[in-house]
Amino acid sequence: MSPVVHATGVRMSYGETQVLNGVDFAVAPGEVSCVIGPSGSGKSTFLRCVNGLEPVLGGSLRVLGEEVGYNLREGRYRPWSPKEFAAFRRRIGMVFQRFNLFAHQSALENVACAPVHVLGLPAEQARRTAMEHLERVGLAAHAHKRPHQLSGGQQQRVAIARALAMSPELMLFDEPTSALDPELVDEVLEVMRGLAADGMTMVVVTHEIAFAREVGDRLTFFADGVVVESGPPAELVANPGHERTRAFLSSVL
Ligand code: ADP
Ligand code: MG
Repeated sequence: MSPVVHATGVRMSYGETQVLNGVDFAVAPGEVSCVIGPSGSGKSTFLRCVNGLEPVLGGSLRVLGEEVGYNLREGRYRPWSPKEFAAFRRRIGMVFQRFNLFAHQSALENVACAPVHVLGLPAEQARRTAMEHLERVGLAAHAHKRPHQLSGGQQQRVAIARALAMSPELMLFDEPTSALDPELVDEVLEVMRGLAADGMTMVVVTHEIAFAREVGDRLTFFADGVVVESGPPAELVANPGHERTRAFLSSVL
């Protein structure tokens, strides 16, 4: 099966600042791929490239069968029309550290919004499906509440339900539990465990090493815009091949 994400030598810079210096990274269908690394190492930038939000300036990046960056075969950047771009983005769900829910809408409306406005589903059908997704994240009883009436963990679960409502083929998580009080972390990880068990392909930037060991198929250590090393999580944690990985792991474990 061809990989869902296949990056080779991906480069990206913000002006003069080189942020990705040749990232090699692949995710197979159904795989849960966890990513760790120091702040500023390019993890979020890489996810934004995968999602088509940042231009890839070198190397090759294929996502869901589409060439997102430089097309080595054709020797040029892939030109996206706005329509193609929207169609591509729709296939990927993204969950951020901050939940970015619409403050004036209920949990249910937050989840039903994109299926109505982007996919054009009838409102009643979208609400029914949204309710199923809220059930899946354990929040059916809170469907009518606005974000400020929910805890951070509940808000993040709504954000996950909102992403799922678009039936994504790939889910990207960027430190989904980093902004949460410690006692709220588990309820979010539990939802992510469920998704993984259902076979969702996921890239998860997280410093929850226990989660990576238990749920991850692969753990990748980023530093200075490159992949330093990557392997089965338990192996990488028990026996890192690089001193930088060892030092980083001991700072988060
Ligand atoms: P991480 O997610 O690993 O903490 P980021 O991908 O957010 O790292 O950032 C990588 C580098 O890119 C950092 O040095 C950061 O300051 C820089 N950077 C991130 N976003 C921007 C931006 N919009 N403009 C300029 N520099 C940025
Ligand atoms: Mg980041």
